[in-house]
Amino acid sequence: MTDATSTYPRLFEPLDLGFTTLPNRLLMGSMHTGLEDRVWNWPRLTAYFVERARGGVGLMVTGGIAPNRRGSLAPLASKLTNRWEVRRHRQMTQAVHSAGGRICMQILHAGRYAYHPMSVAPSAIQSPITPFKPKALSDRGVKAQIADFIRCARLAQAAGYDGVEVMGSEGYFINQFLVPRTNKRSDHWGGSWENRMRLPVEIVSRIRQAVGERFIIIYRLSMLDMLADGNTWDEVVSLGQAIEQAGATIINTGIGWHETRIPTIATSVPRGAFTWVTKKLRGAVDVPLVTTNRINMPDTAEAVLERGDADMISMARPFLADPDWARKAKEHRAEEINTCIGCNQACLDHVFQGKVASCLVNPRAGHETELLIEPTTVTKNVAVIGAGPAGLAAATTAATRGHQVTLFDQSTTIGGQFNLAKRIPGKEEFVETLRYYQKQLELKGVVTRLGQAVDIDHFDVDAFDEVIVATGVVPRDPRIEGQDSEKVVGYADVIEGRVAIGRKVAVIGAGGIGFDVSEFLLHENVPKTPDPDTPSAEAFFKTWGVDMEINRRGGVEGLRPDFGVAPREIWLLQRKTSKPGKSLGKTTGWIHRTSLKGHGVHMWSGVVYDKIDAAGLHITKDGRSMVLDVDHVVICAGQLSEQSLVEPLRARGASVHVVGGADVAAELDAKRAIEQGTRVAATL
Ligand code: NAP
Ligand code: SF4
Repeated sequence: MTDATSTYPRLFEPLDLGFTTLPNRLLMGSMHTGLEDRVWNWPRLTAYFVERARGGVGLMVTGGIAPNRRGSLAPLASKLTNRWEVRRHRQMTQAVHSAGGRICMQILHAGRYAYHPMSVAPSAIQSPITPFKPKALSDRGVKAQIADFIRCARLAQAAGYDGVEVMGSEGYFINQFLVPRTNKRSDHWGGSWENRMRLPVEIVSRIRQAVGERFIIIYRLSMLDMLADGNTWDEVVSLGQAIEQAGATIINTGIGWHETRIPTIATSVPRGAFTWVTKKLRGAVDVPLVTTNRINMPDTAEAVLERGDADMISMARPFLADPDWARKAKEHRAEEINTCIGCNQACLDHVFQGKVASCLVNPRAGHETELLIEPTTVTKNVAVIGAGPAGLAAATTAATRGHQVTLFDQSTTIGGQFNLAKRIPGKEEFVETLRYYQKQLELKGVVTRLGQAVDIDHFDVDAFDEVIVATGVVPRDPRIEGQDSEKVVGYADVIEGRVAIGRKVAVIGAGGIGFDVSEFLLHENVPKTPDPDTPSAEAFFKTWGVDMEINRRGGVEGLRPDFGVAPREIWLLQRKTSKPGKSLGKTTGWIHRTSLKGHGVHMWSGVVYDKIDAAGLHITKDGRSMVLDVDHVVICAGQLSEQSLVEPLRARGASVHVVGGADVAAELDAKRAIEQGTRVAATL
């Protein structure tokens, strides 16, 4: 029954699974945190899940747990293969249940995506994203893997999980059996579709036999592989039906493989862009269908359910960003949600670097046991100078703890560099972080003094017990001859629309901001007030070459990305000889590079800047002098810390803490800024 008084009646409608009822339609999707992989991190993992169970999500799924050593993602990565390992799982499931939550364990066999030399797969075909060639399994080997899936499910049941999720998508082991691209077998596990789908159907039906009827089995089905030689839509439908017959309770949606070169979850993917894929399967099966990818706010989630695209919404990263997401939505407090902006910088990028996953906008994620925001015993007067990400994090954290906080900024608006980021097409989600902080400032009673720079001579140092300096950065001066020419502009002037930029542009500096500026210049009429709901899914799929009818294998066979005609000719330059964009995020850098390349941007390394004059930008490249006859040269040459207040404040006896870009500009990014601001305020 839907609750007519709820703002999101469909989202908070219970889901009856026959033997159990989920309280709402929210699934916290599987997200590998890295905490699973080390025994000593299980108390942290437990705290992480308990916090989210308390936040009211209907059902949670763990990160991938391997059914055997060969199937584990990396050496020493988590597995569940024997009863000695059950104990720590049981401690976690008991804690989650005590907190009112429900949790399923994902069984993930990596197949050829395993990052170790013992990997196995249907055929000995190396993936483009791992350095190891897998061993092709014999018939006996395939049967042994299936038996290990069943053992793993039994152990999960013994550990007290509410169910298991069988990972059949994203290009992992099961998915590798399903498609001709990775399955070249000629025995009864390969060749015809009936043979290729035999493995998952057998896994699900034998798990069902092993665990009985009152145990959730979610099957994660790759509905849109988005690579050549992927599954046809008819195959997807027949697999869904066979999986239902085999005893699955719920079918979850998988989109793309890890080697797919079309964005699936990055911030530039429009909100809810893939829910139409799940909808296509509705009616073909009777079990509840879960949809996923880039759903991050309750309005979007409710609209998806209202359209009938799915029965349930899976979100993984949004629950990292805000463990209380569900409760806030239920209590009509959506404005207080700390929204996942799809940046991947602290979650997936960390996982792929072998670090514990956290969240750029919520540094407590994965650190619940040690980054404590506790009420203060001594209320202090705290000044925070600078309302960029570091200052906002510091101010709201200090105020949450009960301190009296005054936030100063010379700008009339909060947000600092985020106000530039939000105007980059594909980064509209940054608006949500600013909305979140604005609301927190109000709720926590932070006094804001905006629109006036702090003048050390008139700053009442004695009024504050602590001063947090979060004054950010100033652009680095590249000292190029002729840079005072009117052709030369700063990146902020460009992004804020203060100058009309010509048709030929050179961008000096190919770091994060150089890429952002180039992307910005590839679009006309970028709105002053961005709206994260505006980007259109249809345009996105047209650009990246995806057939929304899924009439082709994998939805992409024979299609290529088409970025259209660029409105400008752009040269993105750097002095280093390395590939431009190397400093960008591991899981998103390729998207930025592909977009610029697709738009015909010249990305040049090893450039020496000689001078700028009326003819344009004079450079030397590969020992050859040349002139780029550009209308404008945009300087994106990095940043220097703005610390001019630090010493004068200290000289006047203030207790000063420097955070964010004001502290370190070399590695300036919002992830470090927010974390440092939060940590400093947590200790005052
Ligand atoms: P950055 O990433 O450090 O890049 C600075 C660029 O300026 C480099 O390409 C550097 O290349 C060049 N440069 C440095 N000194 C120079 C000089 N004296 N003359 C000419 N060129 C010079 O800094 P940013 O682009 O300002 O970005 C700031 C931070 O924001 C970065 O940490 C970045 O991670 C973050 N950010 C990230 C993204 C993203 O990931 N998408 C987007 C925006 C911002 P050469 O030294 O080789 O010339
Ligand atoms: Fe979302 Fe970025 Fe946080 Fe990952 S790091 S959960 S993508 S906001």
